[in-house]
Parts: sequence; structure tokens; C-alpha cells
Amino acid sequence: MNKLKNCPECGKLYLEVGQKMCPACYDVELEQEKIVHDYVRDHDKCSIRMIVDDTGVKEKVVLRMIKSGRVVSKNVAYPCENCGADIFVGKLCEKCSKDLNKQVEKLNADKKKLQNVDRSRTMYNAGKDF
Ligand SMILES: [Zn+2]
Ligand SMILES: [Zn+2]
Repeated sequence: MNKLKNCPECGKLYLEVGQKMCPACYDVELEQEKIVHDYVRDHDKCSIRMIVDDTGVKEKVVLRMIKSGRVVSKNVAYPCENCGADIFVGKLCEKCSKDLNKQVEKLNADKKKLQNVDRSRTMYNAGKDF
């Protein structure tokens, strides 16, 4: 069913037929996507900041393209979800993934400690039952 919506880009009312913005903004976005697409093809290992600065396309458009896989993201640095540093793979930069590993290790160590406590308690109770 078609329904009237406010375009998130320009705020005008439009009839929603699948795309998330009005036809005029959709056209603009398609044009921008083409520009970004060509830019990424010609620039190996560029960052979102470079794309935005050089093409004038809005950062959120570039991000949306990367997230939806319309840009070869292995060539584009995007921000680490934790600190915002430029990264090419995964969701976190090297530093943050190391930090995360440390946290996981610590959690596991804590869990082991808890398990040991549990075990000794069980043993104690078992001994009492006998
Ligand atoms: Zn619009
Ligand atoms: Zn980071």
C-alpha cells in the first residue's frame, strides 16, 4: 500500500513506493552514489573523510552505501565503532579489538574463578552429605 511520508532529506511530502526518500532526493542520491562509486574505484584505500572531502557527497550517504554493500568497502576506511579511528576490516580498530580481547579474557578468568568457587562449594556440600 502506498502512503504519504515526509522525505527524510528535504522534508517534503511524497508517496512512498519502496524508496526511503522522495523521487527528487532519490535521483540526487543515485547521482551521488555514482560519483562515490567511481571515486572508490579510482582510489584504492581511501577513507570516508577523503570521499566526503573530494566528492562533496554527504558522509551519511557514503556510510549508507558502505553498510548496504554498494561500495567495495575493503577499499574504504570507515570509523571504528568504539573510537572512530579509520579501519578497513571488522568493526573495531586494532587497538580496540585488543582491548576487547583483554576484556573477554578477563571475563573468562573471572568466570573460571567463579566456577572454582562453585566447585569447592559443591565438594564441601557433597562431603557433608556423606
Ligand atoms: Zn526529498
Ligand atoms: Zn577503535
